[in-house]
Amino acid sequence: MKIDIVTIFPEFFRGPLDYGIIRRAREAGLATIEVHDLRAFTHDRHRTVDDRPFGGGEGMVLKPEPIFECIEALNVAPREARQGGDTTQSVVLLSAQGKRFDQSGAERLVALDRVILICGRYEGVDERVSQYLADRELSIGDYVLSGGEIGAAVIVDCVTRLIPGAVGNEASTRQESFTAWEHAAGSDGPSSTCVSGGLLDYPHYTRPAEFRGMAVPEVLASGNHDEIRRWRRRSALEKTVRNRPELLQNALLSEEDKRLLAQITGKGS
Ligand code: SAH
Repeated sequence: MKIDIVTIFPEFFRGPLDYGIIRRAREAGLATIEVHDLRAFTHDRHRTVDDRPFGGGEGMVLKPEPIFECIEALNVAPREARQGGDTTQSVVLLSAQGKRFDQSGAERLVALDRVILICGRYEGVDERVSQYLADRELSIGDYVLSGGEIGAAVIVDCVTRLIPGAVGNEASTRQESFTAWEHAAGSDGPSSTCVSGGLLDYPHYTRPAEFRGMAVPEVLASGNHDEIRRWRRRSALEKTVRNRPELLQNALLSEEDKRLLAQITGKGS
């Protein structure tokens, strides 16, 4: 998979792309990530990328010309081809006004061959980039960042670890928080040891079994896999009820889950 990042701060990405899974995926050739300096696509002495907003108001706006020129120089497939589904490429504008990026969004992006991420700055990006150049606007959450770079790093991180082979144990990316089982090829449905079915992940423990008087739940050392599965599922449900109850609306729940949920919320026996 190829990922291009367009930014006025290319140095920013030293670090976020150089550790752990992303680094290994790059070294293994699973992901090719290129960072492009937007200023290289300006033509004036000051390498100007921003200008004052039409209509007045605060701050500066990123100009359209360098962004269009940069995308054209990257040999991206034409917008009609991208949007008509003839190619598996997508140009994404990072924006607080975008659709919210989530785990399903990451799964959709990892299915593409090429993703181009445009990072805004200042008050934002000339709207013509969103109207006529980008295929989608994505936001990483309901808050305003000072630039799109952190958002781009978040998207690259989430997407790269989903590339087959990027994470040593592939099953581990299937059983995590938010992962709906339709997206998890080769799974029979949600369970504690397979996929979360849209719930939060279950709690994890490692050695020592007792640490400063804090013990690991006994069932995990019991060797009884059925009990462990049930305990994990119940814990995942409890945590979801406590921290993210709205996720339950779209979660895939078995009859056993529903019974556990009724017990947890006190609506059952
Ligand atoms: N005036 C804009 C905010 C501009 S912040 C507004 O109120 O919506 C400058 C840049 O940071 C944006 O162009 C965008 O690229 C990036 N950015 C800010 N918040 C973001 C978010 N939640 N998700 C993704 N990118 C964001």
